[in-house]
Amino acid sequence: MNNPSRPGAGPDTAAIPLRVGGHPQPAAPRTRQLEDRFGRRFSYLRLSITDVCNFRCEYCLPNGYQGTPKGFLEIDEIRRLVAAFAELGTWKVRLTGGEPMVRKDFMQVARAVKQTPGVKRMAVTTNAYRLADCAEDLKAAGMDAVNISLDALDAERFQAITGDRRFDRVIAGIDAALAAGMDAVKINTVLLKGLNDDQLPAFFEFVRERPISLRFIELMRTGDNGDYFATRHLGGDRVRDRLDRLGWTPRDRGPADGPAVEYTHPEHAGRIGLIAPYAPGFCDTCNRLRVTARGGLRLCLFGNGSDDLRPLLAADEQKEELKDRIVAALFGKRVSHFLHEGDYGDTPHLASTGG
Ligand code: SAM
Ligand code: SF4
Repeated sequence: MNNPSRPGAGPDTAAIPLRVGGHPQPAAPRTRQLEDRFGRRFSYLRLSITDVCNFRCEYCLPNGYQGTPKGFLEIDEIRRLVAAFAELGTWKVRLTGGEPMVRKDFMQVARAVKQTPGVKRMAVTTNAYRLADCAEDLKAAGMDAVNISLDALDAERFQAITGDRRFDRVIAGIDAALAAGMDAVKINTVLLKGLNDDQLPAFFEFVRERPISLRFIELMRTGDNGDYFATRHLGGDRVRDRLDRLGWTPRDRGPADGPAVEYTHPEHAGRIGLIAPYAPGFCDTCNRLRVTARGGLRLCLFGNGSDDLRPLLAADEQKEELKDRIVAALFGKRVSHFLHEGDYGDTPHLASTGG
């Protein structure tokens, strides 16, 4: 474990003017690796680009979007933000929201992010309402991976959970992402007691032929969903039991993998994963930081407050100051969330912070 008094440990920070053959050379930015007091390294940025959403998922925005749909980071601000993170060792960026694809300039944002030096991998999390129409363009814009939310495998149940009728479009979007040749297509399925737990066999069957990873996510408590959580939260044991019983095998985690434990089976092209935020040790491998759609740096999905980076996104010349600010903020990251103690932070719903 690292010395806790050493925020952002790693190679030293300042850009050092180099001398080659006796001539001063322009200062080259040196990559510092973001690291917190607990030795966790952060190479992954989850960037919300809007908090607007066109769905009404019961656990997230049951009454639809209620905010003021303006004031989101502009492309130049996003470009500067991502450049600063990339010089701090971030090489994977996920675009999220709200629903990131409701932004009219979504493709331009995606291109700008992927063109940032140092960004090697870009992903998006989407409800897929328009993925079928844009999967190929997305791939051409440099998108490597797509995560799609899918909580039911029939149109009626899908509509009951999301408030949206476009089940068939979402399924078409999944298949379009596969056809476009994305490196990874993943499904996020929130486990909901009495709503989709009877569909486990169908979800397993869904990945028999499709080379996708379907991850069950335990419902998380947020500020707004207390009653819903009390009624619908279901632990992952049902999924684990089924995986064990049917001979699925856990696979090793890659360096930029999320918190899902994934399983494979010889008779299935796809994988099944489980994301269990209430399980002990969930935060030990945390490798991501979040920035909200208005430029707030959040150290944890279930933390309190955010550090406003926006004043440092106005001009390219602010980059070093911006980097210093991020490094300093990281000092405040806690060892874990405290969901198990009933402390879910000040996140009203995940659309507000970028889930
Ligand atoms: N709108 C996009 C979507 O739904 O994929 C991106 C944003 S959404 C907040 C990101 C992910 O968070 C989705 O997979 C969603 O199912 C999940 N999510 C939202 N609220 C949640 C909660 N309370 N517990 C667990 N997962 C949640
Ligand atoms: Fe929208 Fe995603 Fe929240 Fe559903 S989970 S309401 S699609 S932001």
